[in-house]
Formats: sequence, structure tokens, C-alpha cells
Amino acid sequence: MINKLNEIASTKYNNYNDILKLVEETTELNEVLIKFINKNTLNKNDLADEIADVEIMLNRIKFRLNIDEKVLHRKHFKIKRQLERLK
Ligand SMILES: [Mg+2]
Repeated sequence: MINKLNEIASTKYNNYNDILKLVEETTELNEVLIKFINKNTLNKNDLADEIADVEIMLNRIKFRLNIDEKVLHRKHFKIKRQLERLK
């Protein structure tokens, strides 16, 4: 389903649109997280919504720039490195 969305969206939006949207969504996620830290209130529905928005846009950017495999590779490297550091 996400690939279908990415294919359709890539015909309607350009890199600039998608990057701007990703910045907007990460800002909204930041706002939920900052509210949690500053006011000690967490709305899990809001958090889930914003994480979903960010994941959708990250997925779109990876699709658009064809870097999905590269990101996966870097993610594995970084997870392994963190596990080493935590020993
Ligand atoms: Mg949002």
C-alpha cells in the first residue's frame, strides 16, 4: 500500500514538496515530544499520528531518491555499533 502511495505521490509532487512536507511532519513530532518533556503530558494518539506521518514521509523520500537499500545498510551498521557500545 505504501509503495502505491509513493508511486502516485511521485507523479503529483516534486522533491521540494516532499522534503518540505517531511520537515513539517518532523516539526509536528518535535512539538508532541517537547510537550511531553515540558508539560509531562503525553497524548499517545497524537504521538502515534505524528510518528506515522514522519515514517510515511521518510518512506517517500527513500523511494524518491532510491536510497532504501542504502538506509537499510546504514541502519544495520548503526544498530550493530550501538549494541557494541552498550556492552
Ligand atoms: Mg503530522
